[in-house]
Parts: sequence; C-alpha cells; structure tokens
Amino acid sequence: MNKILIVEDEVAIADLEKDYLELSDFTVDICNTGDEGLEAALKGNYDLVILDLMLPGLDGFEVCRRIREEKDIPILMVSAKKDDIDKIRGLGLGADDYMTKPFSPSELVARVKAHMARYERLVGTQKPQNEMVEIRGIRIDKTARRVYVDGVERTFTTKEFDLLTFLAEHPNHVFTKDELFREIWDMDSIGDIATVTVHIKKIREKIEKDSSKPEYIETIWGVGYRFKI
Ligand code: CA
Repeated sequence: MNKILIVEDEVAIADLEKDYLELSDFTVDICNTGDEGLEAALKGNYDLVILDLMLPGLDGFEVCRRIREEKDIPILMVSAKKDDIDKIRGLGLGADDYMTKPFSPSELVARVKAHMARYERLVGTQKPQNEMVEIRGIRIDKTARRVYVDGVERTFTTKEFDLLTFLAEHPNHVFTKDELFREIWDMDSIGDIATVTVHIKKIREKIEKDSSKPEYIETIWGVGYRFKI
C-alpha cells in the first residue's frame, strides 16, 4: 500500500511532489499527459493517484471519470484555480480530495497518508483474512477449507478435514477415539470409533512423509491421538 501515480504536466511540480512522497517511503511514478496517466492508472497497480486538472490530451476531469469507472483507489485532484475545485465537486466525478496550487508539499503528504489509511481500512474490511491454522509444514485454511502440506495442496474429504483441523487446533492434547467421534460425527451418524481410526490413517497418508513414523498425528497407545506441536 504505497504506490502513487502523479499525473502532472508541470515537471518541476511533479518532481517536487515525488521527492516529498519518496521521503515518506512512497513509491512514485509520474506521467505528464492525461492519456499516459489514464493508461498507467488503469494498468498499474497504484494505491492512489494525484491528478492535475489541466493536462495536455485528456484533461483531469475525463481522466478522473474514466479511472473511477474501473477503480476505487483514492484520487486527489489538484488545480491552479479555486473555481475549478467547485467545478470538480459539482460534476461528481468521484474524486476523493481537492487541492489548490500552490500547496505545501507537507500538506500533500499528510493528505496522501490520510487517504491511503482510509482506503487500506476499506479494502481490509472488504477482503477479510482467511482463518488459518499453521503448524510446522501444515497450513490449514479454515475459510476456504483447503490444506497445504509443505506448500502443496492436498485434497481432504469433509470429515478428514474436520478431524485434522480439530486436532491441529488443539495441539499437544490427547483425545480418545470416542471423544473424536463425538466431536466430528453427528450423534446419529452411522459408524463407530473404528471410523476414527480409518480417517486418521487416510489423513496420515496425505500429511506424513512416512505414515508408519508420524511426525504430526501421534498414536498414544491405549488412549488415542495427539497432534504434535
Ligand atoms: Ca497542468
């Protein structure tokens, strides 16, 4: 979350903005025309655009409108004329902020940071992190119900997945076959504790390098199973 595109035809202003933003650890690219700016904004992976209004080729109004059709990244519009700011507002182009030139570079940086933080929060709530369980080489994505062993995905049946996840979420805890059966299978399921043994065997074939010497799910003789931490 730190890539910024500046679309500005006045090279000295663009360079000044770039210098200040880079001092705040942002990565900055500059385009000097509206056409180039639009293309870069749509194709590049930018987190924010600083867009001048008066540009050769497509002007800032049009560039803003076209970016907004495809992307929801923050757009800060800048103009030399106060009247333009009112016009931008009036047109409802979807710009997030407006600044009148000349502005202080530190004000620009402060506004960029504020919009970036807000956008980051927005994206964060739209794309919640998947709930993961990770123990050594095993990574269980509970949300997507996928399992990776040393980075390679393995396919599990529903009950195998539930059983593996339950054990991995309670590492270093010994469960009897009875307890596991009650936990994973419905009370009225057909089957018995032998089902647990069969499922453990299948899980081991998928996660263990050598099923006869399990590194993850240990058999505690006469008691049950334990996921080693
Ligand atoms: Ca200009």
